[in-house]
Amino acid sequence: MDESEEKTINRKIFTKQNKNEHQAIVWRNVILFAYLHLAALYGVFLIFTSAKMHTTVFAIFMYQVSSIGITAGAHRLWSHRAYKAKWPLRVILIIFNTIAFQNHVYEWARDHRLHHKYSETNADPHNANRGFFFSHVGWLLCRKHPDIMEKGRGIDMSDLLADPIVAFQKKYYKFLMPLLCFILPTMLPVYCWSESWANSWFVATMFRYTFSLNVTWLVNSAAHMWGGRPYDRFINPAENISVALLALGEGWHNYHHVFPWDYKAAELGDYKLNMTTAFIDFFAEIGWAYDLKTVSAATVRKRVERTGIDDVDNKNLSWGWDDKDLPQSEREAATIINKQG
Ligand SMILES: [Zn+2]
Ligand SMILES: [Zn+2]
Repeated sequence: MDESEEKTINRKIFTKQNKNEHQAIVWRNVILFAYLHLAALYGVFLIFTSAKMHTTVFAIFMYQVSSIGITAGAHRLWSHRAYKAKWPLRVILIIFNTIAFQNHVYEWARDHRLHHKYSETNADPHNANRGFFFSHVGWLLCRKHPDIMEKGRGIDMSDLLADPIVAFQKKYYKFLMPLLCFILPTMLPVYCWSESWANSWFVATMFRYTFSLNVTWLVNSAAHMWGGRPYDRFINPAENISVALLALGEGWHNYHHVFPWDYKAAELGDYKLNMTTAFIDFFAEIGWAYDLKTVSAATVRKRVERTGIDDVDNKNLSWGWDDKDLPQSEREAATIINKQG
C-alpha cells in the first residue's frame, strides 16, 4: 500500500468517526453512573437495616444544601442573572454548588443558557424531544451533539469569567469537588457519631449524591413532559408540582421557560413549593441578595392572553436578564426588588 492509499483510508476512518461522534457512547460514564445507582440502592437498603438515624438525616440535609447550590447558585444567579449576590453569599453558594458535583458553575451555566436559548433542538444539551431517558441522563452518557459546540461559541459567558469566585471554583475543581462531595460527607458521620465507613459511604455519600442528581434531572425530563402549560402552550416545559417539591421550587417550568429572568422561577405559590425563593428572600432581607428581578403582573397577564396565539413578536428565546434578545418591553416593565445603584 503506498502512502496516498494509506492517507485515503485514514481520512475515511476519520470522517466516519466524526460523523457518528455525537452518538458515541462514553463508556466511562456508563460504568460510573451504573455504579452510582447500584450503590445508592444499597444505601437505601442500609437506611432501613443498619444506618444510624443521624446519618439518614445528615444525607437529607446534604441533599437540600447541595440542591440550593444548584437552584439558587448555578441556576438562578449564575445562569440567568435573575438577581445579584454580594461576595459572602456567592462564597456560600459556590461551596453548596461544589457539594452537588454537577460540573463547575461555568460549564453548568453554559449548558443551561444553551438549554433555554435553543430549547428542544440539537443545540439543547438535554433536548427533551429525544425522549425521557435522553433528557434525564442519556445526554451525559454520550458525546455532545456538534450543534452544541457550534451554538455554544455564540453564548456570552464573559460575565462568569469575570466573577473571581466562579473562576476560583473552575481552577481548583479537581481538588475541591472530591473533598466536598465525597471525602468530607463520608468522614463526618464516622468521626462525629461513630457511623461505620460502609453506612457512611453508601448512605451519606452515594445515596445522597445519586438522589440529588436524579432530582435535578427530573427538571429536564419530567418537567418537560408532564404538567399544565398556562403561560405558553406551544412549548413542552410544564408546571409540575412533584418536581417543584423535590427540586426546591424548580418545577414551575412552563413559567420559567417563558420568563427565565424571574428570580422566583414561578409566578404564584408560597415558600412550601419554592424553598429556593425563601432562601433568596432571606438573603435579600439582610442585604446580601439584591436586584431581584420579577415579572410584573401586567406582563404575565398579557403573555397568558396570547397563549392561544402564535407569538409573532417574540421569536427569539432569551437565556435570562442580560441577554440582548430579552424584549425591551419586558425589561422596562420588570419589578426589581431591593434595587441598589
Ligand atoms: Zn427546561
Ligand atoms: Zn433555567
